[in-house]
Parts: sequence; structure tokens; C-alpha cells
Amino acid sequence: MNKKQRTMLLRIIVAAVLLIALKFIPVTGWLRFILYLIPYFVIGYDILLKAFKGIKNHQVFDENFLMAVATVGAIALALYEQNGDYTEAVAVMLFYQVGEWFQSYAVGKSRRNISELMDIRPDYANIEKDGKLEKVDPDEVEIGSVIVVQPGEKVPIDGTIIEGASTLNASALTGESLPRDAKAGDEIISGCINMTGVLKIKTTKEFGESTVSKILDLVENASSRKSRSEDFISRFARIYTPAVCYAALALAVLPPLVRMFGMGIPAEWGTWIYRALTFLVISCPCALVISIPLSFFAGIGGASNAGVLVKGSNYLETLSKTKIVVFDKTGTLTQGVFEVNGIHHSSIDEAKLVEYAALAESASSHPISKSLQKAYGKEIDRSRVTDIQEISGNGVIAKVDGVEVAAGNGKLMDHIGVNYINCHSVGTIIHMAVDGKYAGHIVISDIVKPHSAEAIKELKASGVRRTVMLTGDARKVAEQVAGELGIDEVYSELLPADKVEKVEELLKTRSEKEKLAFVGDGINDAPVLRRADIGIAMGAMGSDAAIEAADVVLMDDDPMKIAKAIRISRKCLRIVYQNIVFAIGIKLICLALGAVGIANMWLAIFADVGVMILAVLNAIRALFVKKL
Ligand code: ADP
Ligand code: MG
Repeated sequence: MNKKQRTMLLRIIVAAVLLIALKFIPVTGWLRFILYLIPYFVIGYDILLKAFKGIKNHQVFDENFLMAVATVGAIALALYEQNGDYTEAVAVMLFYQVGEWFQSYAVGKSRRNISELMDIRPDYANIEKDGKLEKVDPDEVEIGSVIVVQPGEKVPIDGTIIEGASTLNASALTGESLPRDAKAGDEIISGCINMTGVLKIKTTKEFGESTVSKILDLVENASSRKSRSEDFISRFARIYTPAVCYAALALAVLPPLVRMFGMGIPAEWGTWIYRALTFLVISCPCALVISIPLSFFAGIGGASNAGVLVKGSNYLETLSKTKIVVFDKTGTLTQGVFEVNGIHHSSIDEAKLVEYAALAESASSHPISKSLQKAYGKEIDRSRVTDIQEISGNGVIAKVDGVEVAAGNGKLMDHIGVNYINCHSVGTIIHMAVDGKYAGHIVISDIVKPHSAEAIKELKASGVRRTVMLTGDARKVAEQVAGELGIDEVYSELLPADKVEKVEELLKTRSEKEKLAFVGDGINDAPVLRRADIGIAMGAMGSDAAIEAADVVLMDDDPMKIAKAIRISRKCLRIVYQNIVFAIGIKLICLALGAVGIANMWLAIFADVGVMILAVLNAIRALFVKKL
């Protein structure tokens, strides 16, 4: 509980005690009125003040206004009828505040829950100075500095391990509870917890650019992207509140007038004004206004706990309607770690060919490039490479030791006008041209991720109608992978622009209600990620391009998380709809009962607070996600 909540609780208790005490004090007349005003102001002064401010700022119709008019009206009515029954007005205010208190407590708690779940913000970085460790603000650490992370500490900044070995726990980032090993030479991302050994890390990014900061930014900004349901609720409240105010006014005035002039019977102003005031109390839309955004907030929190970052409630809503899932192959369904399987038709020494390939690829971030560099196995001397040109979906051209080297697929060879020899092995073929002449090809192959096949099955089970794979790779490999995984359709040998076109074609074949998701590894997929209804990127443990272009990021690159994300979103949306129907339904029933005089103000306030508490509790369910 924070200070505000504590004062509120105190006010609630004081007002309640005073109200009960007054029940036993037999005073009448003006003294009674003044005594009752004490608990009324204790509990309601802020509501009255807010209502007054609302009127002054010409934003009259809100909950504060409803409560203020209803309670002031009830007191005035009791005065007019001289029955001394002020209890009801005070009690209505009291229960309203109990509801508000509960709501702020619940919201505070779930916010705290989420930041606890996301407890990845590092408070400091250790820098070694004269043999001693010094704690500094991570913001002040420059790129290339060496930081020390001791067991039990969070890694504050992305970097490369230069000394030490340890086990890392990345569960706060990925939802993956298995620890992983790290040793000198490995890249390390911020937000993991170092569990066993002391690590010395050379930073490769500033704190603001590190994985942790990016993720925190993302989660903090997620709630600012409103979903359609949330929009609906705020528009609804804008029309609804004034509407009920006018309806209440009509209820107070019209029936008595009709009775008086039309029917010639007593007007009974008191009864009708009371009914109108009850009507106002009932109509307070707080349950809806609070529980819908809270449900989305909890859904996003629950998803991030499972290693799925959703950038806004609108995406959660789209995700829940996903019926077509389109995949990229390399790095998404396959690991993107290629092994060299063979070198054919090499016109130069095979080792030299690999060396040329690795050097030419030195600036590329494509999985193929990383794999070729690994196959080369030696330190890359970047000063030997100049004029690097990467042609997306084709390959690279560069000068190595002054010699022109091209490494890529058949399209790249066509592009530079070199005849190449087709390869009969199944695999990704890297054709090489050295100095404008064909120099043979390297056959590399990738393996599918361990969960890919299961992930496709899970998607089908969760109602996805169609799965499609788009790849720039050769047809043979593409068909082999698709067959192995059980994917419905494959399109191969596509350039990044062709992928956009294909997605656009697919978008035309579905109805508005069915949403299409594209899942990619973020490397050269950014345009498709944007074009799809929803772009899901493999976080590739910190690949900036992926995190930026996508709407949803899977932190641990596990395709199983796609089905999980869809399920989380469905659960969240289900809760949202339950709350909408429940809250509006109860409201309508109470309004009808109030208008015909069956419901009194007591019932009204109980219904309102009760609905709100149930709706908030229901919303919080979205936070909890079953672990797979
Ligand atoms: P995918 O759709 O499977 O992710 P990409 O569109 O990234 O594939 O690449 C398609 C093809 O283009 C690759 O299979 C490869 O033949 C070629 N290619 C792309 N980038 C490179 C590169 N850096 N080096 C060599 N070949 C490349
Ligand atoms: Mg790719």
C-alpha cells in the first residue's frame, strides 16, 4: 500500500465509524444534518472537489459528477422531506470510495507484479579500478569498457565475455528457465543473471542501446497503444455518461409533470427525484472504464513473463484473430547455423575458397555469413576487405586483397553475368566467383529448430487455418523443410520484395476478420514484418532490426511461442469481452429496476462496487499464463 492508499483507508474507517456512531445518537433537526455532514465530507470531499473542477473545465460528465449529484441530491431530498435520513447519501459515497480504493490497490499490485516479473533493470555496473571494484551508473559506461559481473548480479550492458565462464539465467528475458553456459568469447546480453562465475565483459553497446533498455522501453510504452476495445470503452463512456444524466433528469421531471397535468393525481416529486438519483448511482461506468485497460495490461504482462513481448494492446487484439501464419525459413524455422557439407568444382584451393567467402561476408549479419566465418575459423582481418556490397536475398560482393569476390545464390551469379554449375545436393548453395570467373560452390545446410514441427502442430490445434513458408532459399531445400514440418504451402527463391508481394497476395485471399501474421528472424524481413497484419520477430537475442520492425517479439526464438502468444491473446480478449458483457448487463438490469423503483440507492452502490471488484479480479487472471 502506498501513502495515498493508506490515507484513503483511514478516511474510509473514520467515516464508517462516525456513520455507525451517529445511528445511536438520537439527535434531530439541524444538528443531525450538521453531524452527518462530518462523515460525508471526510469521505467525499475529494469527489466533490473533482466534480466541481470538472464543471469549471467544461468536462462535466464523469463519475465524480455522477456521485456528487446523486449524494448531494439525496441529502437535499432528505432535508426537503424532513425525514432525517442522511445515512444513505453518506453510505453511497463511502462504498464508492471503498471501490475506488480496491481498484487502486489492485492496479498498483498488478503493476508491481509486472515490474517484478520484468525485474531486469540493472541498478549499477562494476568497473575495476586499481584492483578494486567500483559501482557506477550503467548509463555512464562507454562502449568498449570492461565491466565485471559477479555471481548473483544482473548483466547491465550487452557485450562480449573476455574472461571467465559461468552459467546464465535468462528467464526474466525469455521465460526459458533452463540456465545456459557462457564462456570467454561468447556474446552476452544484458538482463541475464550471472549465476556462478565472475565474468569480465567488454561492452559492445551503450546502456540505452542494450537489450535490457530496449525491452523496458517496449513494455513501458506498450500500454500507450490502445486496442479497439479500449477505444470503444472510452468512446462509450463519453456518450454514455451524459446520456444517463439526461435520462435521470427526464426521470425526475417528466413522470411528476405527467401525473400532475395529464392524470390529475399528486406529482410525488420526492419519489421520482429519488429514483433519478438512484439511476445516477447505478449508471456509474467505473467497472468498464477500469477493467478493460487493466485486462490488456495484465495480458501484456503475462505474455512478457512467458518471453513474448507484445508492443501494444492493439497487437494483442489482432493476434487473437490470427488465422494465417506465414513463416520465413532461415533463422525462423531453422536454426540459421549452417554446417559446410561439401565444396564442389572449386577452381582454387578449397581452404582458400572458404577464406574468400568468409572475408567477403565479414560485414553481413546474415546467418549464412556467420556460418561461413565460423567455417573459416580464423580471426577476420577486416582491413583486407573493401567495397563491400550486400544484395539482399542474393549474397555479397566485395574486394578481398584487391580481388573481386562474389558469394551468393544463382541470382547473384546471373546478376554479375557469371555462368555457374547447378548443384545436385540438397542444401543451400553458395556459388563463388573470384575475379569475374566461376570458382565453384560451397554446400551448406541448416537444421530445423527442435520445436518447429511441434510448433506448427500447436498452431493448427489453436485454430490457425493456413501455414505458409516463404524463403529466398532454393526450392529443393524449401520443400524438404516444409515437408518435414508439415507446412501447407511453400514459395521459394523469393527476394525480400517478392516476399512482400506474396504476403499482399495472401492478404487478399482472406476475409477482414482473419488476420495474417508473418514470423521472421528480422534480418532483411523488416518490410514484410511491417506489411503483415501482425509482425512477429525472433528476438535473435537482441537483434535490433527485429525488435524495431515487429509488433511482437519472441525473446528466445522458439517457434512454439507463436501458438502460446496466440493463446495468451485469446485468453486476454475473452476476459475483456466477459467484463464488457457482465458490466453492461448488470448495469442495464439495475437501471431498469431503478427506473421502476425496485432498486434503491443501497442496491445500486452494491451492484456497482461488486461488479467492479469482480471485473478487476477477472482482469488480473490475464496475468497468469500456464507454463508449457
Ligand atoms: P530466407 O528467406 O530463408 O531467410 P534470405 O532471403 O535471407 O533467406 O536469403 C535468401 C538466399 O539468398 C539465401 O538462401 C542465400 O542463397 C542468398 N543470400 C542472402 N544473403 C546472403 C549472404 N550474406 N551470403 C550468401 N548468400 C546470401
Ligand atoms: Mg531470413
